[in-house]
Amino acid sequence: MRIDLHVHSDRSDGTDPPAQLVRAAAAAGLDVISLTDHDTFDGWEEAGSEGERLGLRVVPGVEMSCRLGGGSVHLLAYDPAPDDPALLAELARIREGRAGRIPAMVEALQGAGLELAVDDVAEVVGESTPGRPHVADALAAKGYARDRRDAFDLWLTEGKPGFVTRYAPEPHLAVDLVLAAGGVPVLAHPRGRASREELSDEVIAGLAAAGLVGLEVDHLDHDPATRAELRALARDLDLVVTGASDYHGAGKEGYDLGCETTDPEQFERLLA
Ligand code: AMP
Ligand code: FE
Ligand code: FE
Ligand code: ZN
Repeated sequence: MRIDLHVHSDRSDGTDPPAQLVRAAAAAGLDVISLTDHDTFDGWEEAGSEGERLGLRVVPGVEMSCRLGGGSVHLLAYDPAPDDPALLAELARIREGRAGRIPAMVEALQGAGLELAVDDVAEVVGESTPGRPHVADALAAKGYARDRRDAFDLWLTEGKPGFVTRYAPEPHLAVDLVLAAGGVPVLAHPRGRASREELSDEVIAGLAAAGLVGLEVDHLDHDPATRAELRALARDLDLVVTGASDYHGAGKEGYDLGCETTDPEQFERLLA
């Protein structure tokens, strides 16, 4: 049983349409995936029906963008009620911040001398929930970067000319909302680059006391020492340990479907 609980489609900043993503997951030998696009449930239906057709279980999920101090914290939520008004309202608020940031980023990049228009980015975004990766792809298409990663390094990470902040809730609020919607909250890549300063053991313990259920330990952004620390912390706090690819299609090289997986016993605990 191979389980990958964190993958993105083109409904946010991945590149595969949801049904194609599910077919790729089946081809990669996965039995279970969770579609966890950033701040949207958009791909659930399409991925779910393709999963039914292929006998692959698709757990509806979402990766909520949160902020703590100066860091960006991502909270995965598994199987929340699709119609919970408070959670939907919060996700809509986050998406509004995402959409509003695009023109501000374009303006900042124009100020740095680049010839980039809002329409160049809009073309990349299409119907997706917009994010910096779309701006990155637009920059690469214009020749201002080699690829998405290069565009982040040159223009889009904090401190670079195109960086603009946006609204994001505190992780405590997000955990409360997910639990109230009957979902299962799990911290995504807690010691990845963007959040490792803020997510100390104490902060994670506080979130666990508030109802956090799991930690995504097995993620490519964690080195072996970090994984060992997180595994010990999960044991101390009685948290479920998950692992996942954080697949983004062609948008993120090396993060292949099923490259990291969740132990079936941990998966059972997660959904219990
Ligand atoms: P946003 O949520 O719009 O601020 O964009 C953050 C997203 O960009 C993350 O979820 C990743 O998918 C992606 N990302 C962040 N840093 C990088 C990077 N250095 N290279 C490529 N993609 C990145
Ligand atoms: Fe992403
Ligand atoms: Fe993330
Ligand atoms: Zn992700």
